[in-house]
Amino acid sequence: MIPLVHLQRQFQSIKADIVREMENVITNGRYILGPKVAELEEKIAHRLGVSEVVSVANGTDALVLTLEAYGIGAGDEVITTPFTFFATAEAISRVGATPVFVDINPDTYNIDVSKIEERITAITKAILPVHLFGQPADMDEINQIARKHGLRVIEDACQAFGAAYKERPVGSLADAACFSFFPTKNLGTMGDGGMITTSDGELAARIRKLRHHGSTKKYYHDSIGSNSRLDELHAAILLLCLQKIDSWNEKRRELAERYHQKLHNLSFLHIAPAERDRTHIYHLFCVESSRRDEAIKWLTRHQIQSGVYYPCPLHLQEVYSNLSYKPGDFPVTERMSERLLALPMSPFLLEGEQDYIIETLRRFGGE
Ligand SMILES: *Cc1c(COP(=O)(O)O)cnc(C)c1O
Repeated sequence: MIPLVHLQRQFQSIKADIVREMENVITNGRYILGPKVAELEEKIAHRLGVSEVVSVANGTDALVLTLEAYGIGAGDEVITTPFTFFATAEAISRVGATPVFVDINPDTYNIDVSKIEERITAITKAILPVHLFGQPADMDEINQIARKHGLRVIEDACQAFGAAYKERPVGSLADAACFSFFPTKNLGTMGDGGMITTSDGELAARIRKLRHHGSTKKYYHDSIGSNSRLDELHAAILLLCLQKIDSWNEKRRELAERYHQKLHNLSFLHIAPAERDRTHIYHLFCVESSRRDEAIKWLTRHQIQSGVYYPCPLHLQEVYSNLSYKPGDFPVTERMSERLLALPMSPFLLEGEQDYIIETLRRFGGE
């Protein structure tokens, strides 16, 4: 079976380095928030051109702690997209605020900036755009709307490490940004991890305190925080992956270009081209088809894994039935949840395997 993501190949390719780094961590004897975490935070801050990087236990916590550190909670609204992984909205709900959804742009699958302003109310506090599948959202327009209405902007960059918008890196485009190091993300470790990037020193200090039981002085606590830290082992692995991330992302872009070239003329598929002023890193490579479910069965029968991101839009999730959304509220999102199909994509997908996937899709369409 050709998997959607070749994780084993990825970690196999740097296995000797991982084993050596694990031995170093064992010898050093610092296992939580040690020198490797500090080095990772420093390197990423330098790379993104931000002054602060705070690593945490996972991407969901990164979102929750950022919202919390901004004092966003009960009685507040946060505008976001209904077409994302659940954690984006879950984080908003987790701090007691209400997610307010806005439909997506059919060409990028990111939040439709022309529909944001009509959803802003007196209790809106922030906009939380997602760089879906690795393509940056329309950040200039979002920041402009936010400035006009006095709102915070927090990037959900969990799928987009290394992506860029008008030559500027994702993670440096708003008040703060949140990343995930879950294994399948394009920069991922062999477990959970996450981080917040910002140039707001006060925000970073509040998050550092929150991730560590509301404490800055050992055993003295002036607020209720949580336990959300990155392990040394994961930081060590991430430092190795960080050395590779640009070549891995470049390989993703090359494979995406091959998919584009060889699939664009198939009549049962539509492929949205990437926006020209940004660098899409293809965390996922998705195509649209009205025959999606049939295509999935055909691919499975031919030993090719595919994926559906996301089958149930967030406004129609059972847990949000109290928010009174109904089918038809966000037609673009709903259409994409029925049409989008993710094809295998990872830097370790071989061109021969990709050719087989392309050939199999051609035969499915009888083309
Ligand atoms: C993965 C993901 C998250 C959550 O990250 P975890 O590390 O799994 O908690 C949040 N938002 C988006 C868009 C994601 O893809």
